[in-house]
Amino acid sequence: MAYKITEDCISCGACEAECKNEAISEGETQYVIDPDKCTECVGVAASPRCAEVCPIDDCCIPDPDHEETKEQLLEKWRKLHPGEEPAPGTY
Ligand code: SF4
Repeated sequence: MAYKITEDCISCGACEAECKNEAISEGETQYVIDPDKCTECVGVAASPRCAEVCPIDDCCIPDPDHEETKEQLLEKWRKLHPGEEPAPGTY
């Protein structure tokens, strides 16, 4: 499932540079994740990078409104990165 950023976001921007899917952008009041681009870091990293670098606990969390299987996340990653191979150990 895609991740989302909660209203606890302090807009530090640490997450934006970490997202290799360019799913994170600065919204009107806080940073936001585009669920059409977030693969939960499947294809990119072993665990969600935004959650790892975020200085606030439980600010980058799984979004229950966007439940997806690992296979669906990998398919999304392939569409975002045509011609590339997913990183080993990330799916
Ligand atoms: Fe980007 Fe990974 Fe965070 Fe999704 S979980 S927004 S792909 S860094």
